[in-house]
Amino acid sequence: MFALMQSTRTQSLHLAVDPATGLKAVIAIHNESAGPALGGCRYLAYPDDESAMIDAIRLAQGMTYKAALAGLPLGGGKAVIIRNPHVENRAALFEAFGRFVETLHGRYITAIDSGTSTIDMDCIAQATQHVTSTTAQGDPSPHTAMGVFAGIRSTALARLGSSNLEGLRVAVQGLGNVGFALAEQLYAAGVDLLVSDHDEGRVQLAMQQLNAKPVAAEALISTPCDIFAPCGLGSILNGQSVAQLRCAAVAGSANNQLTNLQIADQLEARGILYAPDYVINSGGLIYVALKHRGEDLSIITAHLSRIPLRLTEVYAHAQAEKRSPARVAESLAERLVYPHS
Ligand code: NAD
Repeated sequence: MFALMQSTRTQSLHLAVDPATGLKAVIAIHNESAGPALGGCRYLAYPDDESAMIDAIRLAQGMTYKAALAGLPLGGGKAVIIRNPHVENRAALFEAFGRFVETLHGRYITAIDSGTSTIDMDCIAQATQHVTSTTAQGDPSPHTAMGVFAGIRSTALARLGSSNLEGLRVAVQGLGNVGFALAEQLYAAGVDLLVSDHDEGRVQLAMQQLNAKPVAAEALISTPCDIFAPCGLGSILNGQSVAQLRCAAVAGSANNQLTNLQIADQLEARGILYAPDYVINSGGLIYVALKHRGEDLSIITAHLSRIPLRLTEVYAHAQAEKRSPARVAESLAERLVYPHS
């Protein structure tokens, strides 16, 4: 774990257990130089405790880069609560997690993420003020989806020569809070949707409401389309899956889509334009950060509208430097986060 912390330049890793509620949680603080580390809290099952820590560390690094490129005065952090099938009182579990967050005295600010809800955030808020995306503040997912939609337009312009999405085929992997909201916007723009989700109910809904074509989860990645939009969990782009892709671009909301940066080079070599995840999916962070600061919606919307511009800038650098957009985004972020190295 120390080797991973060193290679990712993670500042600190915090662990907590609370036998009374069944809490087993990790908070990774990657960087605090620009401000407190803000990042979501996942509530998921993991094969072992080490995998949960690795997930938190990798995701926290992405949050630092995301905040830096979004121009927010924040560092990067992430939390994971290991899902416990025997938990009887979910509210008590999240309140215990809130007490854990409080021990860090504002160095880490938590938020909604995969497996957690605004109601869980309300439970956390019983024990700490360092929490966003409560029911009063709202779910950031629609704002993430808005940013991804605008980013898909920029990606289509850069790769296909037009930002008009009408008639394009977009494959949306994962129809959760972000994926479904994204699919709704794509449908309204005249896109032909191909969709998959492990949850059959979500797929049925997309078929009924958005005229979406269902594709088996394992087959979506190799289904011919214009844009593949990963909106499930991370690490879905590896050597094997990249070889299967039959699309012009990958642009979706999932965090940590690439298993490593060499995968970005493979995408580049195949002529597939990749929208760096922490650039295109920054709408949620922008929303929770500005909402936590008390900004009103017009300020938040103005900030969100910069996402496609930032992406266009990354694509322009990538083309000029003949490098993958993922490598360009990382260089730009590292220059902001580590100005003296
Ligand atoms: P969610 O848990 O609401 O939805 C994820 C959906 O994807 C679920 O319905 C799940 O069944 C499905 N899924 C997972 N893996 C799949 C696969 N291989 N094939 C098909 N379906 C699959 O999560 P969400 O809030 O919509 O977030 C989606 C992704 O976007 C996550 O990686 C998250 O970290 C990232 N993200 C979310 C936000 C936000 O505001 N919610 C912000 C930034 C990034």
